[in-house]
Amino acid sequence: PPYGQSPPWYPTPKGGIAASWADSYAKASKMVSKMTLADKVNVTTGTGWEMGLAVGTNAPAIHVGFPQLQLQDGPLGIRFADNITAFPAGITVGATWNRQLMYARGKAHAIEARQKGINVLLGPCVGPLGRMPAGGRNWEGFGADPYLQGIAGAETVKGIQSEGVMATIKHFVANEQEHFRQPWEWGLPHAISSNIDDRTLHELYAWPFGDAVKAGVASVMCSYNQVNNSYACGNSKLLNGILKDELGFQGFVMSDWLAQHSGVATALAGLDMTMPGDGLGWADGKSLWGPELSRAVLNGSVPLERLNDMVTRIVAAWYQLGQDDEKKFPRKQPNFSSWTDEEKGVMSPGSPTEQEQVVVNEFVNVQANHSVIAREVAAEGTVLLKNEDLLPISRQGLSDERLRARRDAVERATGKRSEGKFKVGIFGEDAGPGDGPNACKDRGCNQGTLGSGWGSGAVEFPYLVSPVEALRKQFDKSKVELSEFLDNKASFGKGDGSLNDLELCIVFANADAGEGFTKWADVSGDRPDLRLQNNGDDLIVKVASSCGGGTGDVVVVIHAVGPVLVEDWIDTPNVKALLFANLPGQESGNALAEILFGDTNPSGHLPFTIGRTLEDYGAGGKVLYLPNGVVPQQDFKEGLYIDYRHFDKYNIEPRFEFGFGLSYTTFKLDNIVVIPQRRKTQYPLRRPNPAAEPPSYSTDIPSKEEAIFPPEIRRLEKYVYPYLDSTDDIEVGQYPYPDGYDQQPPLSEAGGDEGGNPDLWSNYVVVNVDVINDGSVAGAAVPQLYLQYPETESETDFPVRVLRGFDKVYLKPGEKKTVKFNLTRRDLSYWDVVAQNWAMVTEGPYEFSVGLSSRDLSISGTW
Ligand code: BGC
Ligand code: BGC
Repeated sequence: PPYGQSPPWYPTPKGGIAASWADSYAKASKMVSKMTLADKVNVTTGTGWEMGLAVGTNAPAIHVGFPQLQLQDGPLGIRFADNITAFPAGITVGATWNRQLMYARGKAHAIEARQKGINVLLGPCVGPLGRMPAGGRNWEGFGADPYLQGIAGAETVKGIQSEGVMATIKHFVANEQEHFRQPWEWGLPHAISSNIDDRTLHELYAWPFGDAVKAGVASVMCSYNQVNNSYACGNSKLLNGILKDELGFQGFVMSDWLAQHSGVATALAGLDMTMPGDGLGWADGKSLWGPELSRAVLNGSVPLERLNDMVTRIVAAWYQLGQDDEKKFPRKQPNFSSWTDEEKGVMSPGSPTEQEQVVVNEFVNVQANHSVIAREVAAEGTVLLKNEDLLPISRQGLSDERLRARRDAVERATGKRSEGKFKVGIFGEDAGPGDGPNACKDRGCNQGTLGSGWGSGAVEFPYLVSPVEALRKQFDKSKVELSEFLDNKASFGKGDGSLNDLELCIVFANADAGEGFTKWADVSGDRPDLRLQNNGDDLIVKVASSCGGGTGDVVVVIHAVGPVLVEDWIDTPNVKALLFANLPGQESGNALAEILFGDTNPSGHLPFTIGRTLEDYGAGGKVLYLPNGVVPQQDFKEGLYIDYRHFDKYNIEPRFEFGFGLSYTTFKLDNIVVIPQRRKTQYPLRRPNPAAEPPSYSTDIPSKEEAIFPPEIRRLEKYVYPYLDSTDDIEVGQYPYPDGYDQQPPLSEAGGDEGGNPDLWSNYVVVNVDVINDGSVAGAAVPQLYLQYPETESETDFPVRVLRGFDKVYLKPGEKKTVKFNLTRRDLSYWDVVAQNWAMVTEGPYEFSVGLSSRDLSISGTW
């Protein structure tokens, strides 16, 4: 395979150019200037897998007062911890389209992290973006569109960091599938390469990372895969060029766990921290940095300047979040262990060395009232996809009037009349508790109701309210007779009459996926197809045909990690309603009951397209399940055309389009007003001069003594130290640097500050639209703005439409509110590969269409 198609970009831009970080860099520079070589290496290198209580810990610079940092997964809660909240997953958050909830969930998550002793949360996740609907980890992120991912990611980052916890935006970049994401789980010598062209990288995959950087994110995690045949954590174009120069990232880049594949080269390419520290295998004590980084600095193969920049970035991030303030951030160690549930254990279970037993689990409850936010997100993230005059029902079932009308109709058709209580059946394993929510490690199996996907993005559920529990509790037993059929293999079927009495059937089914280190059934991380699992489709078909002898009303409820095919049953006449509840977390049943009973009017909208077949998503929508070479190559040939961009371009009718979601009321849009704020110009204002100077330090190579093992240390086996036993053989030499090292490319005109050139973030046009609730109950609308680029003579190809604004507005019946969409220069631009800059189209009008989904655009204006 063509190795190294990614262009060189050296040397690493130093942190410290942004006004927003200037104070933190000034403080960091004072601290770092007092550090020894060993201190500095400690800060950059994890101490090894299971060498601390969290999933990642670096080592402290004790002499200058810099603590160990505790890093913990993940995007929906505190992994491996007790007494925490299992929030809804990212995909559910995306489905809310509610900025305030995105922020609030991040904030609550961070309060728990801080109280559990975590400095750095390993989330949010905006990559994978969702190129492949069956991709195993799409559910950790917010949906198959860069704009939605960008807003949700940035709001989550702001929420997390408002509590002084560092957020990590991950995985940079294009880790779109689990198969071959890294070599060892798949028996290959190398990880897959995602081959992406420059424009697509900018407009899709790197886009949401730009929002996170603009929001001030402290850390970026580089991904396992290769990009253009260069490992993401050693790819100088990505880390030095795009992230640190163009996006002006001021925090630190950490590797995904064992995603580092070289020592010197990753340092030069812009990696700042290696995790978990051992580089070649889990808990093998062999690091590509640690002592080797000490050696590399002493022999001159890694410039001291680069090490200083790594450390300064990490220390500055710590100051930036106020973690130096012991009143705000008192904990120095987690009060829980990721590796045992017992009260006592050892501090470094990864080391075979004899260790003292100490209290490692204090069982501190940090949940506060976060179940409220968890439930709100779950309810607002539930998408009503079909409703033929059925929902909401009440706790008494149907009103007397509706029930009478129903029974009359059935009597007319069948000659039989049902009497007495309203008869409801609940179907499917996915409705019930199964063997409990934590039955499988890291949630790596699909049993019982589905609350999250599996892998490092999952947590130990403190509890999981299953749908059946909530419904059992909430239906009024004096009016409703409930029967439960929680086994998907139950042997009822058309004609056997066993369900003839039922008048309403609520049937649950699901589809699960997760991180590639766990395989369940035929799901090796990525799903093999888009079908419901555990026989879900059969179950729904059977229930529909036998519920009330085929006359009963059916509500289908789906929990899923992403799109599923609904073709087998969606058009069946008595399947009257479909609720797509995504991954609701611990409050599942309660949130669902709110929606079914109409306490909460559904307001979720799809954060992806539901097609009629997997083929509908195009060639780019297919996971590569079999390696197509020693280094599997995945060419992102479809470019910009993923998800709805693909459906729109090829005129494919989706089953349910991106952005779609029904309500119990109806909304109308009116009165679009386009108000230009600035003049259209092709390119942004010139890149500004840096607002601050990066710190500078002495460039003298430190004394070799600084890297010698201090004799008084009691060494733990397999623990990664910065020290060497001997430095005698180290000489400063002339080491070859990578090709292109001495030819720094011009600084990007798209750069210049945190988040890039500030002009990219200026508002160029405002679009106002009135939203009216013209139905009979209160509810929340999600008006969405899609932009159509002007038609030009040029060869530049544009998607039919791209999402560039959304809002969520609560409206009483008859109420009207004006929503305002601010469009920035970046929103209006495309990536001009020749100019290497964001460009607006200056000839011809932009069109802004606003509506309630990507295909229900009732009103438009131009600029
Ligand atoms: C995952 C990351 C996670 C890390 C630490 C990796 O396998 O890809 O998302 O943060 O493990 O658990
Ligand atoms: C994952 C870790 C996980 C570990 C368990 C790794 O591949 O990234 O997060 O805990 O496997 O074996």
